[in-house]
Amino acid sequence: AFSADVVPQAPEDPLFGLMAAYRKDTSPDKVDLGIGAYRDNNAKPWVLPVVKQADELLRKDPDLNHEYLPIAGLADFTSASQKLILGKSSPAIADKRVVSLQTISGTGAVHLGALFLSKFYNPSNPEAKAIYASTPTWANHNQIITNVHLPMKNYPYFSKETKGLAFDGMMEALSSAPDGSVILLHACAHNPTGVDPTQDQWKQIAQIMRRKNQFPFFDCAYQGFASGSLETDAWAINHFIEQGFELMIAQSYAKNFGLYGERAGCFHFVAAPSPNAQDEISRVGSQLAILQRSEISNPPAYGARIASLVLNDDALFAQWEEDLRTMSGRIIEMRKALKSKLDEMETPGTWNHITDQIGMFSFTGLNEQQVQKLREKFHIYMTKNGRISMAGLNTKNVEYFAKAVDSVVR
Ligand code: PLP
Repeated sequence: AFSADVVPQAPEDPLFGLMAAYRKDTSPDKVDLGIGAYRDNNAKPWVLPVVKQADELLRKDPDLNHEYLPIAGLADFTSASQKLILGKSSPAIADKRVVSLQTISGTGAVHLGALFLSKFYNPSNPEAKAIYASTPTWANHNQIITNVHLPMKNYPYFSKETKGLAFDGMMEALSSAPDGSVILLHACAHNPTGVDPTQDQWKQIAQIMRRKNQFPFFDCAYQGFASGSLETDAWAINHFIEQGFELMIAQSYAKNFGLYGERAGCFHFVAAPSPNAQDEISRVGSQLAILQRSEISNPPAYGARIASLVLNDDALFAQWEEDLRTMSGRIIEMRKALKSKLDEMETPGTWNHITDQIGMFSFTGLNEQQVQKLREKFHIYMTKNGRISMAGLNTKNVEYFAKAVDSVVR
């Protein structure tokens, strides 16, 4: 029944293939710039000191067991997650206009949101059923959205010329998208480009979307990781809420807690201010719970327990903020080091974007041939679109990488 014309061989996940090739490479000089996870200055995974502390506390708890969590997840975790992303004094929280479910990290939150839209989003304009995502976007967006049978469309985002935001193109696309369309936005530290709108640009994006009654779906996978400040990184979302939007948020704790494999995340639906908002929240929440029950039954406990301990304790929270600054600070140092080495060698091209872009990734502007050469000649591994993970650079390999780049662009 499952012949090749029914189930053809799927192409290998490009990132997975890259990691396998890196592992096989025996050169002592090899550099992994593909990985989407933080590495310390010794190129090793880093367990955040605050996560170690929370883990010890958790293990000492004599009442800890392995029972199921509720369908919507750990309540202390979801309520702390609301406060983290919307701010402690958020009017949306005070008005009880938010419903939140714990999810299988950010991926699960994007999926739950997309599934909810595919089932329930019926804009008055049937043309507005597609989800608009940036070009480029996180590769998994496309798969998640098409899996729930929603059409996906795109808006321009990255300018190849400036290696910055294609702001005019983005605004044009939003104004010509049908009224009521769903617009998928990266809250901060855009993956894969590392390019974010300025606050002024976000204001203009919100204005146009408000005029067109469009529906924002924020994917927030790097809060605190971009600028080092949790508030700054959530600014765009809160600006949209202040403007009265109804919106959805997918929140991941993979990167900012280093809890990648533990799959801690949260999905939030925020209703617009209205006398019926609480009724709407109750109805939406009840349907989300049914979707969650059929998809995963209930979410995994360990990562949410760790994050919840930290989010609900002032001293641990302060330690977490310090850990976030350690990670974002090291990445910023690596951006500066790379840029200054390229400047020193007068490497052809402009390299300002290396320090202008933020977050874990940088779109270098290197083309596919140059990426190939870096891999074959220098054992440097990155995705073929020229994206590098800044976390793969450290004080020991940044000069080697800069020299290799210099050699392939000349
Ligand atoms: N969204 C974006 C833009 C991402 O870059 C990622 C991770 O790379 C995710 C969501 C989800 O990651 P996770 O499911 O590990 O939280």
